[in-house]
Parts: sequence; C-alpha cells; structure tokens
Amino acid sequence: MAEDIYDVAIIGSGPGGYTAAIRAGQLGLKACLIEKDERLGGTCLQVGCIPTKALLFNAEIYDHLKAGKEFGIEATNGFKVNWATIQARKDKIVLKHTRGLEFLMRKNKVTVVKGYGHLTGPRKEGVFTVEVRGASSVKARNVILATGSEAKMLPGLAPDDRVLTNIEILELKAIPKSLVVVGAGAVGVEFASIFKSFDADVTILEMLPRLVPLEDEEISKELMRAFSKRGIKSFVGTKVEKVEKANTGIAVAFTPPDGNQQRIEAERILIAVGRAPQTANIGLEKTNIKSERGFIHTNEWMETQEPGIYAVGDIIAGFPQLAHVAFMQGMVAVAHIAGKPARPLDRDKIPNCTYCEPQISSVGMTEAQARQSGREVKIGKFPFSANSKASIVGSHEGFVKVVADPKYGEILGVHIIGPQATEMIAEAVAAMESEATIEELMFTIHPHPTLSEAMFDGIENVYGLSINI
Ligand code: FAD
Repeated sequence: MAEDIYDVAIIGSGPGGYTAAIRAGQLGLKACLIEKDERLGGTCLQVGCIPTKALLFNAEIYDHLKAGKEFGIEATNGFKVNWATIQARKDKIVLKHTRGLEFLMRKNKVTVVKGYGHLTGPRKEGVFTVEVRGASSVKARNVILATGSEAKMLPGLAPDDRVLTNIEILELKAIPKSLVVVGAGAVGVEFASIFKSFDADVTILEMLPRLVPLEDEEISKELMRAFSKRGIKSFVGTKVEKVEKANTGIAVAFTPPDGNQQRIEAERILIAVGRAPQTANIGLEKTNIKSERGFIHTNEWMETQEPGIYAVGDIIAGFPQLAHVAFMQGMVAVAHIAGKPARPLDRDKIPNCTYCEPQISSVGMTEAQARQSGREVKIGKFPFSANSKASIVGSHEGFVKVVADPKYGEILGVHIIGPQATEMIAEAVAAMESEATIEELMFTIHPHPTLSEAMFDGIENVYGLSINI
C-alpha cells in the first residue's frame, strides 16, 4: 500500500497547531496533527486560558455574592464555597472543548497521530519525515512546528505538592489558606486574583519595579492600588532569595527595594516567572532552523530558514506568548503553504488581556513608548467611575486611556483597566487595524448605557471633549 504523504504535518495541538490543522482542512490540504499528550488543545485549553478563566468566573460570582448586600440580595443562611464542584465545572468545560476539537479534526479530515514528533532533517525528494515516538513516522511536504511552552522554574526548585506551576495549581484539592505568587505577569496576577477572591492570604513577589510590567505605567499603578484594596500584598522590585520547605508549607526569603530581607511562610507557592519554548528535543539541530534561547526565528509567513518548515505560537521569537497570536500565526502559515492570500502579523496591533479583577487590556504603544518614539502625544483618559453602566454593575475601578498622535488623529495605543476590559479592547484593535482616526471614532455611535461608552469618552477626551467628565 502506498504510504500517505501529507501536504502538511503539524507538531503540537495547542492553539497554533489546531488552528493550522483546521484551516488546512478548510483549504483542501491533507493535514496530519501530531500530539504527544493524551488530549488535544495544548496549554491553552488544558492548563491555561480556559481553566483559569473558568475559575476566574467562579471567583467573580463569589465576589458578587459577598457584595450582595449592596445590591439588596442577602443570603439568609449564608453560602459556602464547594471547591470540588468548582473544579468539576472547570474540568467539564475543558472536556467539552477537547471533544469539540476532536470533532473539528474529523470534520476537517485531519488525521490525528498520538506521539512525540521529531524532525529528521531537510526535505528529501520534496518530502519531510517526522519521526513519531510511539507511532510510525509521518511524511509531509511541509511541517509546522507548534510545540508550545512550559513554565520556567526558579533555580533549585521542582514542582511538587507545595511548589506549583500553572499545572499543579489547577489541580488543587482545596483552597490554600495562604499563597505566595512569584511573578506578576498575567499568569501570576490571575491566580493571585482567583485565590484572593476565595479568601486565601495572597502575597505577590515581583522582581521588576511594577505589577504587569509590560503594561502602561498608570495601569500598573491602578492594579497595585486595586489589589492592595482587595488585601493582596504586593512586593515589587523584589528578589526572591530562597524558597524552603517549612512545617506548614513553604518559607520564602526575599529582599524588597529597601534592602531589608524578609521571610514569609505560606501553604503553597506558585512560580509564574515566564514560559520557556519547548524546542529542545524536536530535531532542530538536523535542520537549518535558527533559534535563540530556544525561540525560533521565522519570516513574516512564519517560515523558518529551513524551506517548508514553519513555526507558530509560543516558540516564536519576538512575539508575545498568547493564544490569539498562535491562532493567527497558524492561519498565516497555512495560507502561505496553500498559496492563498494572507497578511503578516503586525506586532503593534496585538491585544494583551489579563483577566484578574480588575481586568486589564491593551493594544499598541504605552504612553512612555509613544513619547520615546519622538512623536507628539496626546492622552485621552476616562474613569469608569463616571460611566453609568459601571455604576449599574457596581464596578467603579479603573479607566480607559487612549494614546494618540494629534497630527493626523492616529491612535497609537489604548489601555484599559476595569470592568469587562478584555471584552472592550477588540474595538480598539479593529479601529487600529483599519487605520481609523480619533475623529472617526468620535463620530462612531456607541450604545447607551454600556461600558463601551467609556472607550468613546476616552477617545473624545484626547481633544478635551468628553461629555461625561
Ligand atoms: P501550546 O498551547 O503550549 O501547545 C503545544 C502542544 O504541543 C502541547 O499540546 C504539547 O503537548 C505539544 N507538543 C510539544 N512538543 C511536542 C512534540 N515533540 N510532539 C508532539 N506534541 C508536542 N493566552 C491567551 O491568549 N489568553 C489567556 O487567557 C491565556 N491564559 C493563560 C493562562 C495560563 C495559566 C497559561 C500558562 C497561559 C495562558 N495563555 C493565555 C497563553 C497560551 O496558553 C499560550 O500562548 C498558547 O497555549 C500557545 O499555544 P501554542 O499552540 O504555541 O502551544
């Protein structure tokens, strides 16, 4: 029997890999998706975006119940958190969408091969051979690497029942009484937010001078203020010196900026200090692919230096490690393979979202970056405290901040902290992608009463013309 030769073999079934596989099927390519884990979906579906957002929603409900009195809803016999049910609901959501992916693979005629994929070298007679541990090898005219990332650890530590990464913390059988979170990027502050809502004593230790250090400075300040109001203790500019096992859990020695070393004990510690690309054992050395600290370089069509081998997602150098970045890179790579039109990703038009309470989202330049670029900069800012829908939903924290160049009314960046910030940013991304100006958005009708009006007011405020402040 003649051996199957695929148009494209994709290694890794996270957002980059599964999107590429589905799009390949849609474009009539014969595709094979290789996955080492039992389930499809990668970090995002199994141990990242989806389970964390499920828990954040439970946390939000609990926060609303705790504030019920303000809304005239009082629990006469109190209410209690059933952590096992919360975990079961999260697992059910993940399973539902895992099954959904399996269905989409069948629908798009994608062959799924389970096993560890490994490159064997450049094309021979136009065909790559990908060795798959635990299965026979796969032959394909093109390959997409989508092997994703894993949590980095602090030196000398390994994950266990007290030292946690995103994987172990999602499996906790009980809510810890106390939690230290090392790292205040999106992953760190989201877990801090979840467990604080469930009444854990939470302390964040961040080496850089601010929480969410990649966001606009004012956003970091507002988050620090909001977290402190919620009782989350945050130490920034702080170095973790030592993590040890203690009777009750762990003990952490750390040095804040004042230089006075401190020690705290907690039941658990979450290490959220970034994610390393999983490219060490996939056969890169047998090809001409260039990598830097494991991150792969590609051209704008996501093709590596080895013709016919593409790479997408968390393993790519120079892009944020986000599911929606991986989705789009997967689609661009497949369109290029299929000879269909596509647009390279624009680094400046990628939304960043952090789903803690209060939520954060942004796109484009921060105020500091815009000023450093030497452009004339005008800022429009609007607080949610002056937005009627924010009052209705009882969420007054935060603001919308618009960074603009008044010369042509160009929108350089939009930064939001507050209610539904992660839902609101898409408008700014679409506006920037279509090169809409401040003036055009000033004449775009926004529905009333909505949180999206805060964006409208922020835009108008660039010219000091906001109606509501
Ligand atoms: P991954 O999702 O990591 O998938 C890679 C897949 O490849 C895995 O299934 C792996 O088993 C498989 N694999 C690896 N090597 C091999 C091999 N040799 N052979 C076969 N299979 C292999 N991003 C967002 O945009 N929004 C969020 O809300 C969000 N929340 C997050 C929360 C947490 C806690 C974490 C950790 C991350 C979060 N992210 C979020 C980031 C997001 O999960 C990643 O950016 C995204 O999963 C990257 O997709 P990927 O396809 O590159 O890789």
